Amino acid sequence: MSEQMNAKFAEIRDQFPILKQEENGQPLVYLDNGATSQKPESVIQAIENYYRFQNANVHRGVYGLSERATELYEGAREKVRDFLNAKSTREIVFVRGVTEAVNLVAQSWARTFLKAGDEVLITEMEHHSNIVPWQLLRDQIGIRLRVLPINNKGEVCLGAMADMVSENTKLVSVTHMSNALGTINDIQKMSEIAHSVGAKFMVDGAQATAHLAVDVQKTNCDFYALSGHKMYGPTGIGVLYAKEELLEAMPPYQGGGDMIYSVTFDSTEFNVLPYKFEAGTPNIAGGIGLGAAVDFLQSVGLNEVAAYEDELLKYATKQLKQVDGLRIIGEAEHKGGVVSFVIDGVHPHDMATLMDQDGIAVRASHHCAMPVMQHFKVPATIRASFGVYNNFDDIDRLVASIEEAKEMLL
Ligand code: PLP
Repeated sequence: MSEQMNAKFAEIRDQFPILKQEENGQPLVYLDNGATSQKPESVIQAIENYYRFQNANVHRGVYGLSERATELYEGAREKVRDFLNAKSTREIVFVRGVTEAVNLVAQSWARTFLKAGDEVLITEMEHHSNIVPWQLLRDQIGIRLRVLPINNKGEVCLGAMADMVSENTKLVSVTHMSNALGTINDIQKMSEIAHSVGAKFMVDGAQATAHLAVDVQKTNCDFYALSGHKMYGPTGIGVLYAKEELLEAMPPYQGGGDMIYSVTFDSTEFNVLPYKFEAGTPNIAGGIGLGAAVDFLQSVGLNEVAAYEDELLKYATKQLKQVDGLRIIGEAEHKGGVVSFVIDGVHPHDMATLMDQDGIAVRASHHCAMPVMQHFKVPATIRASFGVYNNFDDIDRLVASIEEAKEMLL
């Protein structure tokens, strides 16, 4: 890695106040970015400024404060539109996160337009949030949920996908990047295969948007979901991107204030897009914070982020492979900054608990992707997942801590 890149990312790390604190008397090494990312000063400031100086409800006040809050909140929507390269802010629906986005698509679009026997195709590497909403829908209207298998490297086979789709396939919904394995799916090709049979194509971008540039028009996504908290923004805010014509045709997901144009006891006229899908007072501070997170990521540059994290991934993979008895779960050709592993004779939870004593935060669990664990016949894995502030030193400390913990546990 070039000196210049190292210096740039060292400066970026400096923008995250939480990383200056200690855990159990050790400098914090935060390697649980797959669960949630830390927040830079600019995001914290944007949220604080809103509550300190700009707090008012949006879309309804005629006074200056409310107009300024609305401008900031709608400005954030425009930032997300630009970030995803959507055509219009009418296609950017603020939700709580990917979980809510998938449920919205299942209960509004799919419940309206799919019928018994229609197929929804997902992959074996999905997070529970892209499995359970489809099972609920299956139980409600009798759709068929089909699963594209993964191989032992943790990849889906596009040939198998082409064989599995047919005119019965109405939706293909896949993760852009697996939280449990790190696999990056070829969503461009998957989109083409889905559309070749007339199916809609949805992407769960929870893990991808902090690490890769996304272009919903180039990929021809019908739906793309993201979670703010995984991309250096706050919790409780996310986005469902959907093509305008789909949103126009879909019924509202929830009813209430803000999503209406007029209401009588007999009937209600719904608001225009995207507000038709945003019932109630929104998460205003969250939206503004997400806008600041988008600014942050764009100022770093997604291509540079991807290149930097790829160096971290390669180094971590090489170092971890030298640990006796350690097996990496998920060795796809195309991977993001996630290393999942198990160690012979050691339960992942015991290992992660001991690592915490060294100030190292990693996740030990099924990562809300139990079918992935079932595929690899493990109860859980230890997962180190990287962000823009991690560096080679973090990886050296990770490996040293694993070696020490092993001594104690074996
Ligand atoms: N999809 C993937 C791949 C994830 O990793 C996660 C969260 O871990 C989700 C969906 C759900 O995101 P959220 O909990 O923000 O709704």
